[in-house]
Amino acid sequence: MGEFGLIERIRRMFDEPSPSVILGIGDDAAVCRYQPGRVMLLTTDALVEGVHFHRQYTPAKSLGWKALAINISDIAAMGGVPRYALVTLALPDTWTVEDVESLYEGIDQCALAYGCPLVGGDTVQSPDGCMLSVTVLGDADERKVVTRSGAREGDLICMTGEMGGARVGLEVLESGADKKRFRHSVGRFLEPKPRLWEAKRLVEGMGVSSMIDISDGLTSEIGHLCRQSGLGCLIQEEKVPVSREAVRWSEARGEALTPYILESGEEYELLFTVSKRQFEGWQEKGLDRNLELTVVGVMMAKSRGMLVQRRGKTYPLSMKGWDHFGR
Ligand code: ADP
Ligand code: MG
Repeated sequence: MGEFGLIERIRRMFDEPSPSVILGIGDDAAVCRYQPGRVMLLTTDALVEGVHFHRQYTPAKSLGWKALAINISDIAAMGGVPRYALVTLALPDTWTVEDVESLYEGIDQCALAYGCPLVGGDTVQSPDGCMLSVTVLGDADERKVVTRSGAREGDLICMTGEMGGARVGLEVLESGADKKRFRHSVGRFLEPKPRLWEAKRLVEGMGVSSMIDISDGLTSEIGHLCRQSGLGCLIQEEKVPVSREAVRWSEARGEALTPYILESGEEYELLFTVSKRQFEGWQEKGLDRNLELTVVGVMMAKSRGMLVQRRGKTYPLSMKGWDHFGR
């Protein structure tokens, strides 16, 4: 059934929540009105030992940072401001007090960096392996919330930053290769930096039609935007910025660069759509400066399907992002 099939099944069991629930299951965060014109954004993400991290190459401090950062990224992707965090920790008895303190140092550093203080949580025992679950509550102006479903045909597909680094970081750590030679990638994988500031700029002065953060890979996230906006797309693979370390790593291993571009998960860049007119307006006014934005494709009619162009040829864009129950 796959992770997304399972979530869809759960979603159908809770078809009509209360009228104040503007968006329930299905986006980066839930959107609930708490007073006229204001919404709270709610999101939660868990990291499980053996699935999302391995202790031998994950410093506890990085684990703490990452668990909070990935939730902040979901709030950013909705165009909101993260406000408060709750942390639930399931711990096996192999963890020392010092390990737990390091974990919380990481959480604290991230909380300070993004202005999202820890306000509570829960601590339980785990028979085997650690699990860290973080919930973040954020808020936004209701009219400025950006969903996955607002893209229109002809909109440009844009992203912040570059791809590949997180996947390289993971592979370097897994293979025991020299971390110092791929410092940027390892750092990016262990302690991702959510694009909160960029998201704020994008929704406030500029306006985007849909947005998502890249947690499962470019193909997978574009798939969400297409499906939820009822559209197709054309991605130009050569336009997608790739990190220099990804090029070096893939060349050294004699591997194709494509998976580092299209399938690298946990990058936590923003992927969004914007009308061509709007985008050109930004460029004229210089609004896109310092945002590291790149146009990587265009939204098309649904009947065209999801396509990717590589070296002048067009291929179907296949869904091979990280899907928990799909492989
Ligand atoms: P992301 O990759 O942004 O973290 P997910 O794929 O985890 O997003 O979740 C997609 C949507 O499904 C979100 O709205 C999330 O709240 C919802 N969701 C995921 N798992 C469950 C679950 N077990 N019960 C209810 N909703 C869920
Ligand atoms: Mg997300």
